[in-house]
Amino acid sequence: MSYVDSGSLPDLGIWDKLKARRAAISFDLEVTARCNNACRHCYIALPAGDREAQERELSLAEIDDLALQAADLGAVWALLSGGEPLLRPDFPDIYLALKRRGLLVSVFTNACLVTAEHVGNAVVFFASDLTPTTGASLPVDGGIPSAFPR
Ligand code: SF4
Repeated sequence: MSYVDSGSLPDLGIWDKLKARRAAISFDLEVTARCNNACRHCYIALPAGDREAQERELSLAEIDDLALQAADLGAVWALLSGGEPLLRPDFPDIYLALKRRGLLVSVFTNACLVTAEHVGNAVVFFASDLTPTTGASLPVDGGIPSAFPR
């Protein structure tokens, strides 16, 4: 038994549907350029407390509007990344806004700021009919701040 399968995107049933409509499949949102880590290789890791960077971030309303536009264009999947998206105090609201637009949502996080509440919400969402799929991608270093020091 294998837990991993692979195949070509054109082999999936959704491909013809999307191709015929020339629809956007997915979109990525970098909801902050700030991060609690400072990995040597990173191109988007302004300090967590950088006020100017924070002021430049999209608001929840702007993100929701972008999600609506993307969903109207046919997008079914959104990726939230940063920087570290969990630095945003309104992260749960951002996540919920995308889910309410009917999107599958993945999160790129270094996992350092994951709380028991995040995990509890993820379990509830995963088991809910509202959210058929959700996911989080963690770095291979497990988000250890000293893994890639500057
Ligand atoms: S944890 Fe990720 S976003 Fe943060 S500095 Fe490292 S690579 Fe960049």
